[in-house]
Amino acid sequence: MTFTTNYELRCRDCGKGWGNQPKSICEDCFSPLEVSYDYDALRAAFSRDKIAQGPPSMWRYSALLPLPPDYNPVLPAGFTPLLRASRLGNQWGASHLFLKNDAVCVPTLSFKDRVVAVALAQARAFGFDTVACSSTGNLANSVAAQAARNGFKSWIFIPGDLEPAKIIGTQVFGAKLVRIAGSYDQVNRLCSQIADERHWGFVNVNLRPYYAEGSKTVGFEIAEQLGWRLPDNVVVPMAGGSLITKIKKAFTELIELNLVEPKPVKFFGAQATGCSPISAAVKCGNSEIDPQKPSTIARSLAIGNPADGHYAIQAIGKSGGWAEDVSDPEIVDSIQLLAQTEGIFTETAGGVTVGCARKLYRQDRILPEETTVLCITGNGLKTTDVLFGKYAEENAIPPKLAEFNRYMEAGEDSLAQTRGEVAETVEV
Ligand SMILES: *Cc1c(COP(=O)(O)O)cnc(C)c1O
Ligand SMILES: [Zn+2]
Repeated sequence: MTFTTNYELRCRDCGKGWGNQPKSICEDCFSPLEVSYDYDALRAAFSRDKIAQGPPSMWRYSALLPLPPDYNPVLPAGFTPLLRASRLGNQWGASHLFLKNDAVCVPTLSFKDRVVAVALAQARAFGFDTVACSSTGNLANSVAAQAARNGFKSWIFIPGDLEPAKIIGTQVFGAKLVRIAGSYDQVNRLCSQIADERHWGFVNVNLRPYYAEGSKTVGFEIAEQLGWRLPDNVVVPMAGGSLITKIKKAFTELIELNLVEPKPVKFFGAQATGCSPISAAVKCGNSEIDPQKPSTIARSLAIGNPADGHYAIQAIGKSGGWAEDVSDPEIVDSIQLLAQTEGIFTETAGGVTVGCARKLYRQDRILPEETTVLCITGNGLKTTDVLFGKYAEENAIPPKLAEFNRYMEAGEDSLAQTRGEVAETVEV
């Protein structure tokens, strides 16, 4: 077949090609479309050296993304740190533990900045002047911010119960925010209907195949930052189930292009128990999703009927991995554990990842000496509400040395207090 670009949309099930257009479902068989590439053409154009000479952002992998010809990026999204986690690893007896820290992704502090960057590149090429999304929070922030920088109008649809920081962090960019009295799954269904009526680029509806490709850059970066090696295991939080399947696609492409040695990687999915349709299916050995009604503080992962659930189950199963889920209190404990051991403040989704990883080590599904990467996908400053009441309020003391010394003499009590273990405040 011939490509006008190096890529085109192809049906994931029947394989029919659909060219490049704002479309996410195959009209013949109703399966999702995915971007496929001409790897033979790419192999010649791609080497580790060329990548290393690229910018310190996700755009160093532009040749492996569905970008319009001559696309000129306007933001340095991605290329976040891969950190060795020795102190967290010590707690679990794990010697080769790493954190992929997208809590500091540019511009809005979550991995969604990667997917939006690719979707908006195509939105411009398709001639949209308005972009939109249905969101559990982080996508809202990222679409609003990048629409502002790219000069699009934006319409953002969210479930009514999102965290205040994610609402303000959308409105500040001048986006039209529409709160819907319903779950994410209802918001998403509504957006599909709106997309049929209006000429808007919905990043996760009619632009979804392009959007999803942006997630591959997490996988490319992990491999490059490990010195062009694949890890033994990755632990990935799952909402719609797209990120985990795209990290897998990234590793497969790197092998296909001879950039890394072929090697099996186990994929582990992480969910909150209060919304765990994918992990429940993996644990029961089902290949299809049984939709759930979400009830969890991990709102960014609260998708009860995940669009890529079936493919996430497949990716996990075929790799020999597993899926776990953790309760809301475990999520909060895990946020604190990561902050206190590694100095990274993650949001609830990161708490889910850390909490599930802990379980997977305990179950010996992940072994201590294996190279294991946890994907930290969002920033804790957006979900501070889950920590309210965790730390006692400190009374202000007068700015006098004697007062400070008296405060210190209160000793154990006040030290305990600063650790949040004593509820009452000490009079000084
Ligand atoms: C959206 C999101 C995810 C999950 O992404 P999917 O590709 O929908 O599975 C994980 N973490 C955070 C912080 C997110 O916002
Ligand atoms: Zn099809």
